[in-house]
Order: sequence, then C-alpha cells, then structure tokens
Amino acid sequence: MAVVAIVGRPNVGKSTLFNRLCRKRHALVDDLPGVTRDRLSASIEYGNRRFLLMDTGGFTDPDAGTFAEETRRQVLLALEEADAVIFLADARTGLHPGDQELVGLLRKSQKPVFYAVNKVDGREQEKHIAEFYALGVEKIYPLSAAHGLGVYDLMDDVTASLPPAWEDDAQDENPEIRVAVVGRPNTGKSTLVNALLGEERVIVSPVPGTTRDAVDTPVEVQGRRFLLIDTAGIRRKGRTRQKLEKISVIKALESIDRSHVVILMVDALEGVTDQDLHIGGYVQERGRGCLIAVNKWDAMPKEPRTVRRFLEDVRERFRFLPHAPIVTMSALQKKRVSRVFPMVWEIFDQFNKRVTTGMVNRVLVNVTAKHEPPLVSGRRLKFYYATQASTRPPTFVLFCNEPQKIHFSYERFLTNQFREAFGMDKTPVRLVFRERS
Ligand code: GDP
Ligand code: GDP
Repeated sequence: MAVVAIVGRPNVGKSTLFNRLCRKRHALVDDLPGVTRDRLSASIEYGNRRFLLMDTGGFTDPDAGTFAEETRRQVLLALEEADAVIFLADARTGLHPGDQELVGLLRKSQKPVFYAVNKVDGREQEKHIAEFYALGVEKIYPLSAAHGLGVYDLMDDVTASLPPAWEDDAQDENPEIRVAVVGRPNTGKSTLVNALLGEERVIVSPVPGTTRDAVDTPVEVQGRRFLLIDTAGIRRKGRTRQKLEKISVIKALESIDRSHVVILMVDALEGVTDQDLHIGGYVQERGRGCLIAVNKWDAMPKEPRTVRRFLEDVRERFRFLPHAPIVTMSALQKKRVSRVFPMVWEIFDQFNKRVTTGMVNRVLVNVTAKHEPPLVSGRRLKFYYATQASTRPPTFVLFCNEPQKIHFSYERFLTNQFREAFGMDKTPVRLVFRERS
C-alpha cells in the first residue's frame, strides 16, 4: 500500500489535517492500532485510492532533543517510508527559518512533495501565502485544515501522484474499447459488422484461431483500439427464426456483460419492438454505454414529418436510455456507417471519464445552492461531500443526512446537472447516496 506522510514544524496543523482526512465523511478508515507504539497512521480511501496516511507529529518523543532536531528526524523518516510527502507550513506565523531547513531536506528527495500552507481561514491570511514562494517551490496549496478548505485540491493531486492501485486498465492511455453489436435477428448486425470491418481505415488484427477469443475481432481505427465482441456469433446463420430469436437474446445479454459500449440495432422497417426494449433494458441495468442504430433507413419513406415522428417515437420508447445517441443508417448501402466508431469512442471516453473531487464538490455546492434540496419529513436534505468513486460508468458517492429519503426526481435532477457539468451526456452516470456518520 502506498504511504503518504504529513511533515512540518510543531503546531502547523499536521494532526488537524490528519484527523480531517481520517474522518468518515472524507474517507473510509481502517484503524491500524499501534503499528508501532508511537506511530499515528491510518489506512484511508480517498478518490478511489487506498493508502496509508502517516502523521509524523505522532512520532514525537518528549525526551528527544530540540524541536528542530525532532522535526528533522521525522522528515528523514517520512522520506524513507513515504511515496508522497505533504509539507505543511503555517500562514499565521508566516515563513519560518525552520521551514527553510525542512524544505532543503525535502528537495533532495526524488519523491513527490506537496507544499501546503495551513490556517488560511480567510482573506486576511491569503495575503501571507506569497511569502512562502520564497521557499522556491513550484506550487503552494493554501488550506485550512480546521475548516476543510483547499483540502480536496491538495488530496486530488497527492492521490494522482501515487502509483496506480486498482482500475489499472482505466489508467491506460489507449484502452481497448469492447463493443457489442446486439439486436434481434435480421436487424442487420452482420451486415453492419462486415461494413465496419470492410472500411478502409479499419485494421483487423490477426486472430489466433484456436482460442475463445477467436470470436472477438480486434480492430484499430485511427489509432484507437476496439474489440468487436462475439462477431462469430453474429455471423452464424441458418437456424429457424424462433430458435434464433431465443438464442440471440441470450447471446446478446452475454455480449452486453462483456462490453463497454453496446450498439443496439433496431430495424427501421419494423419499428421498436418489445424485444428491442428488453435488450435495451438490460443495457441500462448493466450501466453500459449505448448507441442506438436504426438500420435499413434506405428502405424508409423519406417524408420529413414521418421521419421526425418515427425518431421521436424511438426516443420516447427508449426514454430509459436518455444518454444513448440515435443514429439512422443503412448498413447495406454503407451509409453513415463511418460514424459508428467515432461515436462509440466518444461514448467510451465519457464512460471512462474521471473528474477531480475538488470539481465534484464545487459543482455540488453550486447546484444545491441554485436549487435547494427539498425537505424530507420536515428536515432539509443536506449534502456534505461527494467524490467520484469509480468509472465505467462514472459513479459518484454523495454523503448526506437522509440518503434513504431522496426522491427519484431530485436524484434525476442531480444526475442531469452532473452530466452537464462534467461532459457526461452520452454515458450512464450513477449516484450513490450514503449517510454521513
Ligand atoms: P501539529 O503539531 O502540526 O500536529 O498541529 P496541530 O494539528 O496540533 O495544530 C496546532 C494548532 O493549530 C491547534 O491549536 C489547531 O487547532 C490549530 N489549527 C490547525 N489547523 C488550523 C487551521 O486551519 N486554522 C486555524 N486557525 N488553526 C488551525
Ligand atoms: P442479422 O441477423 O442481424 O445479422 O442481420 P443480417 O445482417 O443478416 O441482415 C438481415 C437482412 O437484412 C439481410 O437480408 C440484409 O441484406 C438486410 N439488411 C441489412 N442491412 C440492411 C440495410 O441497411 N438496408 C436494407 N434494406 N436491408 C438490410
């Protein structure tokens, strides 16, 4: 587990910051009772990273020489053990010769060090921040550990500097986008897949014929990597219609499970059927990205009013997938087929997107200030803090006073505001409400 140490002269507020970060509303805390007798550390989870936070103030030995020596010893220890170091100074006392000395030690280290100035509770202290740039550091984080100001911005950067823990693939700069093409038989899935693979800009990677993966087709389009899931299943032919229908639904559900983005094929000539909605419902339930492809558009009457009404009807029937773009196409005539991969990767990028905790909380504060949360059983619903817990799809945890009583209309409102603020209009977004304890 990664280790983050807080260092600084006595009384700058190390324990206050430590305690704030350990509080349940900010972090899930495991107590590690007495890792060693004089060590104050806790395993905390912040922004989906778990790490050991160390308050070097807790190492103080009352019999050990002067404060200066003692602090020096703590810093050396932190540098040895930590993956990242938070250096704290005190805006109220101003720049201190002791700070200079510690910074001198820290600068020799290869480890990421974050320089923060604490006790910036208001404008009065903000004026003193500038003098800390005399330390010659690149960035200063002003904070008030006592009031929680600036703490998210600091911790977002600290956690980002840590070695990746889980969601390793999510850190990958060019992750493979798993795409499932699903729909009822005869909607044109194989025609679309063939059209996609037949495009000039598509590079189909050679597939070893023996493994299970043989039915998945890796392709590269403009440098982005895609995996078309179960393409062999799509191409298989020659079963009775009824049997095919049943098999295809089960196959579809399996493919959806393995995918990031689903292309849901609908036959324009038949309109949206219950079977289509059934598959769509599963996509929604599984929280996958989705593109609704209305195929065989070439065979549709082109009267503008009919077209508009038809598309409104599709939107209405798939209203539980409000984020899914609808594209009309002709797989047979290869019309608008070239739009498919770019749309899929736009959906995936949103599906895979992470925003900082600082940003989430700024938006939460703005939104709840603009539209005051409703009263629930006579009590005002109150939000304390929020963070993005995961991606694929983006999932946010909101700490509040009455999580069980949030009305779905307010949840939908918050979801829409988050979508808009974070550029997530084409991906499902999940909110999880937790009681602050
Ligand atoms: P440590 O010795 O570095 O661990 O410092 P402490 O956390 O014990 O804090 C020293 C003193 O500074 C205490 O009286 C705290 O209440 C106070 N303090 C800590 N953070 C802040 C802050 O953000 N603003 C103000 N005004 N006081 C603070
Ligand atoms: P699948 O069962 O979903 O894989 O569907 P197929 O790709 O096998 O297509 C079923 C039938 O629909 C075939 O006869 C195709 O030629 C036809 N088809 C597929 N795409 C289109 C299209 O865009 N326009 C028209 N008019 N027919 C299409």
